[in-house]
Amino acid sequence: MHDEALLSVDGLCLAYDGSNALNGVSLDIRKGELICVVGANGAGKTSLIRSIAGTIPASSGVVRMNGVDITRKPPWEICELGIAQVAEGRQIFGALSVEENLLVGAALKRAKAEQVNTLESVYALFGRLRERRRQLAGTLSGGEQQMLAIGRAIMSKPEIVMFDEPSIGLSPALTDVMFSVVKLLHEKGATILLVEQNVAKSLSLCNRGYVLENGSVVLHGSSEELLSNSEVQRAYLGM
Ligand code: ATP
Repeated sequence: MHDEALLSVDGLCLAYDGSNALNGVSLDIRKGELICVVGANGAGKTSLIRSIAGTIPASSGVVRMNGVDITRKPPWEICELGIAQVAEGRQIFGALSVEENLLVGAALKRAKAEQVNTLESVYALFGRLRERRRQLAGTLSGGEQQMLAIGRAIMSKPEIVMFDEPSIGLSPALTDVMFSVVKLLHEKGATILLVEQNVAKSLSLCNRGYVLENGSVVLHGSSEELLSNSEVQRAYLGM
């Protein structure tokens, strides 16, 4: 099943105190793809990312990386296998400098040897982070903190990057910047799983998408198919 997938999720279920947040979610992503999972508040998007990352164990179902079952592996091992996440709310270390935050991302075995080169590539992508590399991360603006969270994920030399609502809390202009950064990373070869509430923007950016409602995938297909689907248009695009 999903032999060619870099990451595959099969029948994933997750419950908090007996209430189901994920009800058998399945999806797959091949190397080099940019896909999105879209859904409203509370649909289960963050729960999906956390259960893939191993920070909240799934109650059943399987997550595979290159065909290998990683469902019960601890979060650090999943990071070491090359799955990075840019968390909702960024989760940077406010009392550390920008550069220290970036170096935390390179603390993995898979990334350490190349950290000087990777740091340079992050600074080449985000000139603003280079300018502010000695500044405490907690004093950065919201958009700069989002750049830092992305930079830290890149520092771990990931096989796949999961973005949890990168546009949340950002102005429309900065949201456009974030989406163009995601696009640029994809064009440079990254495999990306984007989780978003901004359905129109994420579907226009991605090749394929999944629509999550109440913890279940209710639709999936190419972005064109989903954008022209009357249910998607009515429920998410205000048409
Ligand atoms: P949002 O866009 O608002 O972040 P989401 O799609 O990411 O939403 P989740 O955060 O995954 O959704 O939440 C899915 C469901 O699980 C919601 O009903 C939420 O209230 C519930 N939930 C999430 N985290 C917990 C928790 N730690 N304990 C109990 N219930 C939780």
